[in-house]
Amino acid sequence: MKKIWHELVAGEVVQAFGVNVKCGRTALECKKLQAQFGLNTLPEQKRRSVLGIFLRQFLSPLIYLLMIASAIAFALGNYKDALVIVVVVILNSLVSAVQEGRAEASLAALRRLTKLKAKILRDGQLLELDASELVPGDIYHLTAGDGVPTDGRLLEANVLQVSEASLTGESMPVAKIVDALPAENSLPDRANMVYAGTYVTSGRAIAVAVTTGSRNELGKIAAMAGKTSQVKTRLEARIDAFGKTVALASVTIFLLVFILGLLHGMKMTEIFMVAISQMVSIVPEGLPVAMTVALAVGVQRMAKRRTIVRKLSAVESLGSTTVICTDKTGTLTKNEMTVVQLALPTKPLRRIKVSGTGYEPVGDFKEDVTEEVQTQHMLAQDSNFQRLMTAAVCCNDAELVSPDDVPASWQITGDPTEAALLVCAQKSGINLQALKAKNPRIAELPFDPNFKMMATEHQQDGRSLVYVKGAPEAIFSKCFASSADEHKEILEAFKEVADDMGQQALRVLAFGVIDDAHISSQRGFDGLNGCIHFLGLIAQMDPPRDEVKPAIAECVRAGIKTVMITGDHKATAVAIARQLGIAKSANEAVSGSELDLLSDEQLAAKMEHTKVFARVHPEQKLRIVKSLQSRGHVVAMTGDGVNDSPALVQADVGVAMGVTGTEVAKEASKIVITDDNFATIVAAVAEGRLVYQNIKKLLLFLFVTSVDELLVLLLALLFGFHAPLAAVQILWLNLVSESALTVSLIMEPMEDQDMHRPPVPANEPLLDQKMLHRMPFMIAASVVSTFGWFWARTYMGVPANVVQSETFTVLVVCQWFNLLNCRSPQASAFSGSLLGNPWLVGGLIIANILHGLVIYWKPLAEFFHTTPIALESFFAIGLVASLVLWVEELRKIYARRSLTI
Ligand code: ATP
Repeated sequence: MKKIWHELVAGEVVQAFGVNVKCGRTALECKKLQAQFGLNTLPEQKRRSVLGIFLRQFLSPLIYLLMIASAIAFALGNYKDALVIVVVVILNSLVSAVQEGRAEASLAALRRLTKLKAKILRDGQLLELDASELVPGDIYHLTAGDGVPTDGRLLEANVLQVSEASLTGESMPVAKIVDALPAENSLPDRANMVYAGTYVTSGRAIAVAVTTGSRNELGKIAAMAGKTSQVKTRLEARIDAFGKTVALASVTIFLLVFILGLLHGMKMTEIFMVAISQMVSIVPEGLPVAMTVALAVGVQRMAKRRTIVRKLSAVESLGSTTVICTDKTGTLTKNEMTVVQLALPTKPLRRIKVSGTGYEPVGDFKEDVTEEVQTQHMLAQDSNFQRLMTAAVCCNDAELVSPDDVPASWQITGDPTEAALLVCAQKSGINLQALKAKNPRIAELPFDPNFKMMATEHQQDGRSLVYVKGAPEAIFSKCFASSADEHKEILEAFKEVADDMGQQALRVLAFGVIDDAHISSQRGFDGLNGCIHFLGLIAQMDPPRDEVKPAIAECVRAGIKTVMITGDHKATAVAIARQLGIAKSANEAVSGSELDLLSDEQLAAKMEHTKVFARVHPEQKLRIVKSLQSRGHVVAMTGDGVNDSPALVQADVGVAMGVTGTEVAKEASKIVITDDNFATIVAAVAEGRLVYQNIKKLLLFLFVTSVDELLVLLLALLFGFHAPLAAVQILWLNLVSESALTVSLIMEPMEDQDMHRPPVPANEPLLDQKMLHRMPFMIAASVVSTFGWFWARTYMGVPANVVQSETFTVLVVCQWFNLLNCRSPQASAFSGSLLGNPWLVGGLIIANILHGLVIYWKPLAEFFHTTPIALESFFAIGLVASLVLWVEELRKIYARRSLTI
C-alpha cells in the first residue's frame, strides 16, 4: 500500500526505509537503488533532432519564394535553373542546420553544469554531492539558501522556512515542523514535508528522501505543464525586427527591378529570376543563425573563463554593462580570514595581537601596548579571554580539520569567518572538541544578514546560557543596560576600538552572553534585547585578491563604474575600497542607515559619486539597483544569499557566486561565476562586448555586400545593359559563398580597444553612426570596381557570358576583401595576425575553392552559366577588386590619426 508520509511520525518513515539516521544509506545500497529508481532528475527536454532543425530552415518566407521561383523556372523549361535553386536552398539549409545544431548542443551541455548540489549522509559522512545521486531513503541536510533536492519527510527542523512559490504559488515562505499531520492535508498544508524545486529561506533541517526524479511532486507538475518555451534575447528580437524591415525593403526592390527589366525589354522569365535573386541577396537570411552561433560561442568562451551563462540575454547585457555592483567578502577579498586582534572588556581595556597566517593553528598572542607575550598557560588562567573564546567556539558552525585527516594542510569546512575563530582558539591551546562537548548546543538562531548576528543556546553545568556574536553595533544595541554609566563608558570605548579596527581594513565581530536564558524561535533576535553581557571583540584580516586591483583599473578604462555593496562596517569597507582603487575617501561611502533616510530622488542624485555602500541589508540592494537603473545604467550585481534574490532578478545581469552562493541566488541569476572572483566578472563583460562587436562586424559585412550587388544590378538596368549576373549566380553568392565566410567574423578575437572605450548604449541602433560613416566608402569602392569592370569589358566587346562570369568573380573577390575590412573599424586588416583567427583563413580558403569549382569545374559551371576565366584576367580582377581594401585602409589611417572613430 502507498504510504502517506506526512501522516506518519518521523521515526516510522525512517523505519519504513530501513535506514539508520546517524549513518544514512551505504554506497552499496545507493548503487542498487539507483539501478532500480534511476537518477533523481526530471526527464530532459527532448533536444530537436538534426533533421528537425534542418526542416525548420525551410519554414521561411524567403525559401517559399525561392521554391516558387524554382517552380516557375521549371514550368518555363529552365530545368537547370530550377534544380540549381533547389540544391542551393538545400545546401544553405544544411549549413545553417549544422551550425544551429552545434550551437544548441553546446548550450545544452552548459546548462548541465548548473546542477543542484545536496548535502547527503552516506556511510556516516555528510557529503556534498549532485542532487541527481539521491535515492529514496537517503538522509539529507538543508540550510538557508539550499534548494530542496527531492521530496522529503522532515526528521528535524530548526526554525525552518521554505519558499514553495514554484510549487504552490504561495509567495510567503512557509514554516515547517516535524510532527505528524492528518492524512487528508493537501500539499500546501503538509508542513512536515519538503518538496523538490522549493528553497529554504531560513533555518536548517534534516529530511529523509521519500521519492526521487519524476515521481516527485515537481515531476508531476512538469509532466502536466509540458515544455517551456525558449525566450528570445533582446538582441535576437532586434535582429529579427531588422530582418523584417529589410525583407520589406526587398519587396520594393523586387518591384523596382521588375519594372526596370520590363522597360528594357528583358525576357519575362529572366526578369522574374533576377528580381527574385536580388530580393534574396538583400535579405540577411544567415543572420539569425549567425546570431545563435555568436551567442553560443560567447557562452562557450565565458565557460572557459569560469562564467556559466544561465540565460542567453546575459551575454548582450554584459556587453553594455555600465556599473558592476559587487559584494566585498570573497569577491573582492580572498575570504581567507585570520584573526589578528582581540579586545577584552577589562579595566583598563586590553587589546591583544595575534600572529600566524592561514588556517594552521600556530601563532603568538601579545599585549598590544607592552608587547608582552601571553603564553598558553597565561591565557588558560585569563577568565576574560576564556569566556570570549568559549563564545567564539560554541557560537560557531565551522570545523577545523587537522592535517592527520587531510595530508596537505589544515582545512576548514563552513564559513571562513567562523573557522578563523576556531583557529585562534586552538592557537591559544584550547581543545575545541572538549570545549564543545562541555557546552552541548540545545538551540540556535542561525546568522541573519539583516540582524547581522547569530545566537546559540547551550547547556553548561546544569543551566542554559545563550552566546551571541555579530556586527559590533548589532551586539552593542542589545547589551545589558544596568549600572548605566560604567557600562555605557565601556561600550563607548569599545565602539572606538571597533572603529579603529575597521579603519585598519579588519572585519570585526562582537561577542556576548546571556546567562540563564533560552532562545525563542518565535521572538528570534528581538527576544535578546537589552540583556546581553558584552564579552569582547575579535578582528580578522581578509586580504584583497591580487587580480582585483588590475581588474578595477580595467573597468575604469572601459568606462565601467565599480560599486562595493557590503554588509561590513563602513570603515572596513572604505579601507578596502581605497586599497583597491574603488574609492578615494569616506565621502564616497554611504551606510545602510544613511540610505534609509534618503528619498528615491536624493539617492539617485547621490548615485554618481557613491562608490561604497556599507552595512547594507540585502533588501537595500534592490533599491540601489533600481536607483542606478533609473539613471540609465545597465547594472551587473553580485549576490550569494537568499535575500539577495530580488536584487539579482532586478539587475540587468544578476551574478551568483558559484562557491559560496546559495541555490536560491543561483536560480535568480543570469550568470554564475565559478570562482567567486570579481576579475571573472570583468572578463565576462569583455566577452559580452566581443560578442556584440562581432555581430556588428558581421552585420556590416552582410549589408555592404548586399547593397553592392543591388546597386550593380540597378545601374546595369538603368543604363540599358544586359544583366551583369545570372540569377543563380546571385543565389550562389548569397547562400553558398557568403555562408562560408559569416562564421569567421563571429570568431574574431578581442581587439585591444574593446575594453578601452565606454560601454555601448543598450539602445544603440544595430547599424550605428560609425558603421553608417564607413558604409559609403566600402560600397562605393565595391560598386566602382564591379560595375567599372562590367562596363569596361562590355565596352571592349567581350561576350556577355564571359563578362557575367568575370563580374560574378569581381563581386566574390570584393566580398573577400570586405571581409578583411570588417575585422576592425580602425586597425588595418593586416595588423594583428590574420592567423589569429584560423576561421577567417579557413573561410577564405573554402570560399576560394568553391569559387574555383563554380568557374572551372565544367558540370558546376554549366549549371551556374559560367565560363572559365583566363588566369591573367583573374589577377586583373584581384587587382581591381582590391580597391575595396585600399580605400578602407586609407580611411582607417585617417580615422586612427584623427581618432574620430
Ligand atoms: P559582503 O556583503 O561583502 O559579503 P559581509 O560578508 O561582511 O560582506 P555579511 O555576511 O552580511 O556581509 O556580514 C555583515 C556583518 O555581520 C559582518 O561585518 C560581521 O560583523 C557580521 N557577521 C558576518 N558573519 C557572521 C557570522 N557568521 N556570525 C555572526 N556575525 C557575522
